[in-house]
Amino acid sequence: MAGDEPGAAPEVEELRALVGQFRTHLEARGRSGLVGVVTAKSEKTAPAAPRQVVAAPAPVETEAQHPIERIDDGETSAAPPEKARTGKQGLQVLRDEIGDCQRCKLAPTRTNLVYGVGNPDADLVFVGEAPGADEDAQGEPFVGKAGQLLTKMIEAMGYTRDDVYICNVLKCRPPGNRNPEPDEVASCEPFLKRQLAVIRPRMIVALGKFAAQCLLRDDTPITRLRGGFRSYEGIPLMPTLHPAYLLRDPSKKKLAWDDLKAVNAALARVGIHPPRPPAG
Ligand code: URA
Repeated sequence: MAGDEPGAAPEVEELRALVGQFRTHLEARGRSGLVGVVTAKSEKTAPAAPRQVVAAPAPVETEAQHPIERIDDGETSAAPPEKARTGKQGLQVLRDEIGDCQRCKLAPTRTNLVYGVGNPDADLVFVGEAPGADEDAQGEPFVGKAGQLLTKMIEAMGYTRDDVYICNVLKCRPPGNRNPEPDEVASCEPFLKRQLAVIRPRMIVALGKFAAQCLLRDDTPITRLRGGFRSYEGIPLMPTLHPAYLLRDPSKKKLAWDDLKAVNAALARVGIHPPRPPAG
């Protein structure tokens, strides 16, 4: 009689066989731990209608199947509490990208581009304004007189220059140490932002008006900004007085030290301590 079907059409059988093979494959991969898989037990019953296309079961990852849990087969290893140590590579990639930078008008007058120095995975980053004459000559930030004071401040906190990361908003020296100009900042600041994104520090110290105002997009005078925690893209930021300013007015050193003690205290609250005991 018309409409009676003695057996499924060959193409339907073929489709069924393919679905069966696919399920067997997925179950085998699921047992090997390579993918989460819905087994016959948990899978919704495949529809009987022969012409319906059977979609591949969506992988379901339970906690026990999560890659971190299953990677060592038996040795359940949780993710390490500290962040992944990827800063060195990331900073090198970015340095390569900056190359022999000619993006702004500071390029012809610089001796060295001053990228940054220290621990590429630092919890604590210090950001200054721009290289001076000594930094331009040596290619390293904060190595002149102000830099020597910064080094002392860092050591008083219980760190060395190698424990933290030090960089500037501008990577090249403005002639005569004049203030950075907006077009120079526009060219260079994206690289600072990317350095910070790679390092992902737990705290930033902005040294002086220029770094603080630039990172915070806030033109409040540094004398009012300093001493109060702010946020730079979710990272706590402490604006403080620039070491060059402290050299000119040593009576303000205590204010800067108060700021750095507050930084240490805030880091201690999240379990981050300097490798050596801080001064005072
Ligand atoms: N002042 C800065 O702001 N940065 C340096 O690297 C040196 C001096």
